[in-house]
Amino acid sequence: MPELPEIETFKRYLDHTSLRQKIREVTITRQRILKDVSLRQLAGALKNHSFRGTERHGKYLAVDVGNGKQMVLHFGMTGCLHYVDQDDPDSPYARMIVTFANGHRLDYANKRMLGRVRLVDDFDDLVDELELGPDALEIGADEFDERLRPHGGAIKSTLMNQSLVAGLGNTYTDEILFQARIHPATPVDALSAPERKRIYRMMRKVLRKAIDVQGEPDRMPRSYLVPHRHDGAPCPRGNGIVHRTRVAGRSAYYCPVCQPRPGRKR
Ligand SMILES: [Zn+2]
Repeated sequence: MPELPEIETFKRYLDHTSLRQKIREVTITRQRILKDVSLRQLAGALKNHSFRGTERHGKYLAVDVGNGKQMVLHFGMTGCLHYVDQDDPDSPYARMIVTFANGHRLDYANKRMLGRVRLVDDFDDLVDELELGPDALEIGADEFDERLRPHGGAIKSTLMNQSLVAGLGNTYTDEILFQARIHPATPVDALSAPERKRIYRMMRKVLRKAIDVQGEPDRMPRSYLVPHRHDGAPCPRGNGIVHRTRVAGRSAYYCPVCQPRPGRKR
């Protein structure tokens, strides 16, 4: 499932392939992918304009259309972007196809249809409306601590709460907690100040590293959990076996030796 590093990768991909090209046509293959906008409105806003720039907040990508409108993409569980040649077939599960004047196309593909395409006047207003917290790579250490501390519940599900901080999902919260050596079910109010600080530092480290490798798990360092994120895999630190557990209804992978349960610290 795409999280902040994957969306940042899509952003850079779109910046690299699709800016400043006149848009000839917009095709929607499944109406349900549109949220609060009709195809007519979307096509009207995009046609004969061009993408001017992009902005990311958490897992949302806003594309400036240059006429006071921004197209906002959310990728759900399975979304991605493909820039293709005019002779290439449509990407599998292409739900929106933007055709440029040169015949090339930008496909927004989404197999499971959980992402959405919106058209807004102001991305910041949408961020407020969706009650997203600060972006996980933008938030400062003090603000992170202030926002985290009052939360109840387990650290893993708290980090995944998009209103605390936007951009983290199941995979990278596991990695952050592995790097910080904190059990995913640890109640937030049981964390010490140095532990919260460590989580903040590891959050930045993990997200930056994942962006560097364009979110490809196999290119993550061997010392990371992500390439070993399955039940029974050896701990990348050589300390034990990766376990799977459930935290607030989501599966979490962790190493019981590196990340002892709270109250059982070595
Ligand atoms: Zn371990």
